Amino acid sequence: MLHALSFDVEEYFQVANLRHAFRREDWDAVPSRLAVGMERILGALDRHGAHATFFFLGWIAERHPDWVRRCLDAGHEVASHGYEHEFLWDIGEEHLEQDLARTEQALAAAGAPRPEGFRASTFTLTERTWWAFEMLAKRGYRYDSSVHPVAHPVYGVPGFEPGISTVETPAGAVVEFPVATWRALGRNWPVGGGGYFRLFPLALTRRALRRLEREGRPGGLYLHPWEFDPEQPRVPAPASARFRHRVNLSRTLPRLERLLGEFRFGSYREVLVEQGALEPREPGRASGGAR
Ligand SMILES: [Zn+2]
Repeated sequence: MLHALSFDVEEYFQVANLRHAFRREDWDAVPSRLAVGMERILGALDRHGAHATFFFLGWIAERHPDWVRRCLDAGHEVASHGYEHEFLWDIGEEHLEQDLARTEQALAAAGAPRPEGFRASTFTLTERTWWAFEMLAKRGYRYDSSVHPVAHPVYGVPGFEPGISTVETPAGAVVEFPVATWRALGRNWPVGGGGYFRLFPLALTRRALRRLEREGRPGGLYLHPWEFDPEQPRVPAPASARFRHRVNLSRTLPRLERLLGEFRFGSYREVLVEQGALEPREPGRASGGAR
């Protein structure tokens, strides 16, 4: 069973938890830490012969096209994380197309094929931003991984199908592949990445993946380059945000290495092809993830 592994490519100063500390207009003045995490991630994937999907911010692809190319050269899939990490409800229905197009242009300029996958900033595809699916279909996206089927104060669609499903829109269908959840006590718990991956024992993620395998369903995991960078600057923030951002940062790499040694991982595209939700790419076309 091939599980899906993904990295949302953004800087530590662009995450929602720290957005109060770094104004958008100041981002260019903050020294980049991207290379630290990206080197560690690409090294780990290479050591284990695994592929992943890298959801790039357009803002990052414009400034660091070399990382887009490094991912492609290593056989990984490059997809879209939107332009500058705005929540979908802040972008708004009328500006989403522009945001997607700008990101597509940045990825194309860096040499990537047109992205087939999308992940919204901070899982902000919820019932109130459901209109995003129609725009994704209109712009040719084949899959999305922005719905988190959990109860959470900011995001989440608790009743949503936790496996791979299809969302129909007037502009066409989009495959939805949410990140992995753990069903217990009558609700879905997030086990697929981020602060939860670092906070909960690794045993929980491993049990969740084993359970999904028994059920014949692949899991999806998400991590970020800044989670592989425990030396990143400490940012003044409320205690809860600081905790969520920094907890167990030094454990991310060894944990990922253990999972890579124990389970088979591929890009979202590869998993969706194996599951019959996407068709294999025609031979001879730029790969960007297909083996
Ligand atoms: Zn993000």
